[in-house]
Amino acid sequence: MSYDVIVIGSGPGGYVCAIRAAQLGLRTAVVEKRATFGGTCLNIGCIPSKALLHASELFEEAGKGFAPFGIDIPAPKLNLKAMMAHKDATVKANVDGVAFLFKKNKIDAFRGLGRIAAPGKVEVEAEDGSAQTLEAKAIVIATGSEVMDLPGVKIDEKRIVSSTGALELAAPPKKLLVVGAGIIGLELGSVWRRLGAQVEVVEFLDRILPGMDAETAKQFQRLMEKQGAKFHLSRKVVKAETGKSGVGVTVEKAEGGDPVAMEADIVLVAIGRRPMTEGLGLKEAGVKLDQRGRVEIDEHFRTSIPGIYAIGDVVRGPMLAHKGEDEGIACAELIAGKAGHVNYDVIPNVVYTYPEIASVGKSEEELKAAGIAYKVGKFPFTANGRARANRTPEGFVKILADATTDQVLGVHILGAGAGEMIAEAAVLMEFKGSAEDLARTCHAHPTMTEAVKEAALAVDKRAIHF
Ligand SMILES: Cc1cc2nc3c(=O)[nH]c(=O)nc-3n(C[C@H](O)[C@H](O)[C@H](O)COP(=O)(O)OP(=O)(O)OC[C@H]3O[C@@H](n4cnc5c(N)ncnc54)[C@H](O)[C@@H]3O)c2cc1C
Repeated sequence: MSYDVIVIGSGPGGYVCAIRAAQLGLRTAVVEKRATFGGTCLNIGCIPSKALLHASELFEEAGKGFAPFGIDIPAPKLNLKAMMAHKDATVKANVDGVAFLFKKNKIDAFRGLGRIAAPGKVEVEAEDGSAQTLEAKAIVIATGSEVMDLPGVKIDEKRIVSSTGALELAAPPKKLLVVGAGIIGLELGSVWRRLGAQVEVVEFLDRILPGMDAETAKQFQRLMEKQGAKFHLSRKVVKAETGKSGVGVTVEKAEGGDPVAMEADIVLVAIGRRPMTEGLGLKEAGVKLDQRGRVEIDEHFRTSIPGIYAIGDVVRGPMLAHKGEDEGIACAELIAGKAGHVNYDVIPNVVYTYPEIASVGKSEEELKAAGIAYKVGKFPFTANGRARANRTPEGFVKILADATTDQVLGVHILGAGAGEMIAEAAVLMEFKGSAEDLARTCHAHPTMTEAVKEAALAVDKRAIHF
């Protein structure tokens, strides 16, 4: 069987790449080892976690948030089975959607483990052990990432879980210990705290959400602490052992020493993900990896071997679904001989907690390190009428603009619905817009987005409502 393009992996990078390639008239196939399409994101990542985040937020709101609005209801009862059924149905609708899109676009899908047998040749090994070889002018590696292990801690997905197990717990734990204060740890920690768990987070660094704007992360940590989460920063978990009553955990200072024993019902290991390159035959095919084990690519997604491309979590850049999708589109367009491009300066990043954190572009720390002079405009949601009406006054919008040209270089939003609000900042930055452009754009009243406009006005010290 001969194709123009074979994509290995059907996550957001792979399936979007395949659809775009088919749209451009290329004969396209996808190889996927999982029973369903959609990769980490649709099966065990973005989609199930957001289903549980939304449901658990409603549960907490019904318990604590209704009375101030004059809605008196009895304390809500958790039906975890139904909540999980909602999550599973959401996943099913999404993965079935990808299967439908493959059919609609006449993409051939092969189930099995894909291996590059030689440039232009992909061997697919089905679960029953049978194998077939497909041929293609171009091969796209979109095999994504997998959970990173922590030395001394064996994940069993029952008591010591990764994000995958944390999406499937049969009951809220009394105490959940989260290892790693990154996005996944804080999101899933939030889910189980809202459903009744006492949550403690151990983080190696001296701050949470590494890489995000430090002021925003610090303010968010305070809000999480107010909600009941406890943080142990500059600490590392060196051992976790499952006993009869739970998991015994040894925590030390980041630099080592000063061991402290902790207990938890469930330990969630969320220290990051690593690129999935095993079993792909990359070494034999001569495809080079970089120092961090990612497939090395140039700016056109070409690996070291002609005709083999790579996109998504398996290559450099943030491990985010939408980054992989955009790379998938650009890669397919380049294979088809068209122009394709991803602007890595404008990739939004969202933490779907309450409140949400959303950012795009540079943080203050990055601008300082690069020696770029910048102005800051900040506006708090306490001064926004809609936030008051909605009782969502936490957080702020912060805009960083070039001190000379006024071009917006970074936007950081901590607040309810931040993940939706960040889109206007991304569009503005894609068009290299200025704070002045944003400040002169009429924003509907009363909306939370008026805080974005006010922050843009504040860049020039002329916010109206603060
Ligand atoms: C709990 C959690 C929550 C997340 N939430 C978000 C979020 O809210 N927003 C966001 O942007 N990102 C989120 N992410 C990250 C997001 O899931 C990834 O960035 C995204 O899935 C990467 O897409 P990808 O196509 O590169 O790889 P993947 O989605 O990992 O897909 C790779 C696919 O390749 C298949 N595969 C691997 N090797 C082979 C092989 N040899 N042969 C055949 N098939 C193979 C795998 O089975 C998999 O289906 C989350 C991740 C997790 C774990």
